[in-house]
Amino acid sequence: MKLWKKIAIVIFALLLLAQIPFIYNRYQFGQLAGKISTLENQKIKTENQIYNDYKGSIHVHTAIGGHSTGSFDELIFGATINALDFVVMTEHTSEFFDSSELTLRGSHQGILFVNGQEVETASRDRFLLLNGSAEAGKANKISTPEFLQQIHADNKLAFITYPEKYQTWDADFDGIEVFSLHTNAKNMNLYFVLFDALWSYYSYPELVLAKYFQRPGENLQKFDEVANQKKSTLFAGTDAHSNIGFHLFGDDAGNKIINIKLDAYKTIFHTVRNHVLLEKDQEFNQENLLDALKNGHCFVGFDVLSETEGFFFAADNGAERKIMGDEIALTENVILRVVTPQIARIVIFKNGEKVFEETNKTEINFHVKEKGTYRTEVYIDSLGSPFDKMPWIISNPIYVK
Ligand SMILES: [Zn+2]
Repeated sequence: MKLWKKIAIVIFALLLLAQIPFIYNRYQFGQLAGKISTLENQKIKTENQIYNDYKGSIHVHTAIGGHSTGSFDELIFGATINALDFVVMTEHTSEFFDSSELTLRGSHQGILFVNGQEVETASRDRFLLLNGSAEAGKANKISTPEFLQQIHADNKLAFITYPEKYQTWDADFDGIEVFSLHTNAKNMNLYFVLFDALWSYYSYPELVLAKYFQRPGENLQKFDEVANQKKSTLFAGTDAHSNIGFHLFGDDAGNKIINIKLDAYKTIFHTVRNHVLLEKDQEFNQENLLDALKNGHCFVGFDVLSETEGFFFAADNGAERKIMGDEIALTENVILRVVTPQIARIVIFKNGEKVFEETNKTEINFHVKEKGTYRTEVYIDSLGSPFDKMPWIISNPIYVK
């Protein structure tokens, strides 16, 4: 046999061998999908008498604001098949037009769209502005404190996005995007993702993304530091652009073969959602939605691992009952109560320090003896690595004063 043939055979054999881990991963994705479907079948029905749970996605782009290839059609389709209740649009701004005027707003297919914007100030801080405005295009000319003063005078909300790059921590912002699907996706090892995607993406698109999820430890620590001083809201952003992916063959007309779009709206709207709680007699509209987000009446649910609707975090001091986002007075009998729709490990943090942890629970009562900022994280350890370290649910805090 000629030398080049021998070399070609060796290279071919090595390429085949290198695929073995990804074939095994595909088997593991199948196992994980099986576990998740078993969990869905044994979901515990938790009846909440007072609140309705509305689920949605925050931080979503389309081609209107640049950096994205997504269309309104794709977006509405993705939100509809995921049965979302709301989508908070955050188009990039332009000095030439008001992107919040041009993007989706109001109700489409029964889904509430809020026309927000992603804004950068002269201090190089980035915010999600809810809802958007024509002036937002000039935010890059003013400092972060000036910007926040202006938008609060207009009754708007500003949530920090990209907290890892944020600077002006003493400013009066309304909340922090503690988890970003986009930032998480960008940190994935491209080599591993490429082959995992080739082997498994068509069958398990959401799980290929979820496998690379990491608990956002640094952002949670920053949030805890802020929430120890003042009320703030944590949430997850999808930062959906519908533009991360690859295709192997294609032509100039846009026809692609083996086209894998990792962040298609329909996929990412399934992975992580914000669940907002409104009292049952409250109408579900933009005003009440933004009010609930401002007040922290919401939690982050990684619904790809199992639907999180039915989760509840509340406090009772004998005289009054409050929920996540609220303040409650310290009395002899303050009880924090966590209810989850799956058997899980429940952790309670006080001022960022773990003060309680119990496994195999669907509800716990924790007796509070000290003032502080309390929030909870819930884990489904039975799903295996990395989900024994990556929370299934992250709640907003209850402030015991
Ligand atoms: Zn963005």
